[in-house]
Amino acid sequence: MKAKDKAFIEELGGSADEALLSRYAYRVSDYLKSKLANRSSNDPLVKQYIPSASELEQSELERDDPIGDGAHSPVKGIVHRYPDRVLFTPVHVCPVYCRYCFRREMVGPKDGGGAAMLSQEELEGALAYIASRTDIYEVILTGGDPLVISSKQLDFILSRLQAIEHVQVVRIHSRVPAADPMRVDEKMLSVLSRFEKALYLAIHINHADELSMEVRGAIKQLRASGVILLSQSVLLKDVNDNEEALEALFRGLVALGVKPYYLHHPDMARGTGHFRVNIEDGQALMRGLQGRLSGLALPRYMLDIPGGYGKVPLEPIYIRRKGDILYEVVDYKGGVHDYPPKK
Ligand SMILES: *Cc1c(COP(=O)(O)O)cnc(C)c1O
Ligand code: SF4
Repeated sequence: MKAKDKAFIEELGGSADEALLSRYAYRVSDYLKSKLANRSSNDPLVKQYIPSASELEQSELERDDPIGDGAHSPVKGIVHRYPDRVLFTPVHVCPVYCRYCFRREMVGPKDGGGAAMLSQEELEGALAYIASRTDIYEVILTGGDPLVISSKQLDFILSRLQAIEHVQVVRIHSRVPAADPMRVDEKMLSVLSRFEKALYLAIHINHADELSMEVRGAIKQLRASGVILLSQSVLLKDVNDNEEALEALFRGLVALGVKPYYLHHPDMARGTGHFRVNIEDGQALMRGLQGRLSGLALPRYMLDIPGGYGKVPLEPIYIRRKGDILYEVVDYKGGVHDYPPKK
């Protein structure tokens, strides 16, 4: 690592420890460097991107592959866990490396010196798998970050998916609009706008402070290109684990035409214990936001079950059985009301 990068990390109160930086990839985009400069070590953006000595602490329950992708990968670049949809990961690098990343053992430039992008042959293999499985209705481009590939490569992949009849929906998951908004350029926008099937883009963003002028501009252009915009966030201790932060984030997104889709409970990735939140606390946050935010602004609170068993909602339950004849429903203010079961 360059001395300049080390100094930058240390100025922001982070750790540039060799063992840490050789284990987990570090990178911040030039855009983010300008945004991070002069912030304090407990700033929500600094916490997301600047390495911390806490990452060297591991618990026995943490895993290399916390959500069990490996168990469901039939060919390189594909994870097929649910019958109707696959993850397609053409690239394993990102514009930035989030310190809580659930794929932190897989992403980054290291990977035994291998290429960042799937080879042409591997891409063909992944596309052939998708073409051969007529039950695949939705393809989710993820990574790494699929929007770091060139517009030409993106165009190639989207055109091929366009031609597979049973694929009706394509979803892209990306950190680029929030972490490197200048990458959202005319070429990328024109590739996205040419795609004729339903195209969704889930923007990874965790804090309202990330909605800078540049990020807002990128989101507006993406919207104008006809892509349907969603967001996904990770619930992170000392970054966004309070009602005010989540409210500001979700309201900010909805006002930009982005529907908050998922709030992920943090995964059991190695060295990420300092980001973890109790499930009860996450549920209390969701309870607090219910009624205070419109349905448009409320994402689902999700857990990815370790081992590859898929995602489940963790939202609080508002209804319970009351004796044999009734239910009790709790409203958003805590009031309790009877509700009859269907006769
Ligand atoms: C998260 C995930 C999906 C997408 O799940 P949705 O609930 O549809 O957003 C699909 N496949 C795998 C393997 C996943 O991890
Ligand atoms: S952008 Fe996604 S895959 Fe890349 S480091 Fe962040 S969380 Fe991990």
